[in-house]
Amino acid sequence: MPPQSPFPGKQQQLPVTTGLLSSGGWCRQCRRDHSLTSGAAEQACQDLMAQLDRHQRIDLQVASDLADPRCSTAALFAEAGGKMFGVLTCRDAGGNLVVLRAFSGQYNGLWQVPGWVGPVCDPVIFQRLTAPVEARIKVLGQQLACLPDHSRQRLLLRRQRRNLSRHLMGAIHDLYHLVNFRGEQASLSEIFSDRGMPPAGTGDCCAPKLLHHAARNGLQPEGLAEIYYGRPNTSATRQHGHLYAACDEKCRPILGFMLCGLS
Ligand SMILES: [Zn+2]
Ligand SMILES: [Zn+2]
Repeated sequence: MPPQSPFPGKQQQLPVTTGLLSSGGWCRQCRRDHSLTSGAAEQACQDLMAQLDRHQRIDLQVASDLADPRCSTAALFAEAGGKMFGVLTCRDAGGNLVVLRAFSGQYNGLWQVPGWVGPVCDPVIFQRLTAPVEARIKVLGQQLACLPDHSRQRLLLRRQRRNLSRHLMGAIHDLYHLVNFRGEQASLSEIFSDRGMPPAGTGDCCAPKLLHHAARNGLQPEGLAEIYYGRPNTSATRQHGHLYAACDEKCRPILGFMLCGLS
């Protein structure tokens, strides 16, 4: 089957690879930046894109008759928009090349798909922590909708809801324990400490998933690149088939720690 363009009528252009995209951040311990260039990961991203074009699903290790409909790439071209996919090329202890792949956040509600590096935080533990608090926040929202504006009770419930959300965010940040290449561990709260609250979704991008997995499995990263696949985001800062370094907003503040100890 020939590769199909997800945008019919449009010629798909492959991005130019230079291998020089740089992902990194400031390391407080070493008092300098640590970074990792894209290297061979750019070509590996293009190989991944060709596979997604051909199969139109991400559960590539599963036989086509057993494919999970939730893993189809069709949704990436619909309203909700596309997604970042990341590749980390590494060497194992024997010097063999290992290519790790990850998608950002969840894929259609899935945290784990065979062939992809899983999340930093155990989804079961995450669910156990967040579900009851989110249910409570939802109930408060319903109660608020029935109260008159500016009433005393409304103000109280709003404050209660805000405190619950803040508390939940803090608890989530404590759940994310990132490992670096010195073998050290730190939670998102510890890494951000005096730099305020981590933005929502910090730790769920491709780069932290991949680096965390490599550090925990004795793999030496050599190249890191991300590719955007699907409908461009609303601000058009992400375009289908373009290569990117790790993001500045969520990843830069944690990559200094995560890359520490990498030779
Ligand atoms: Zn990121
Ligand atoms: Zn360092």
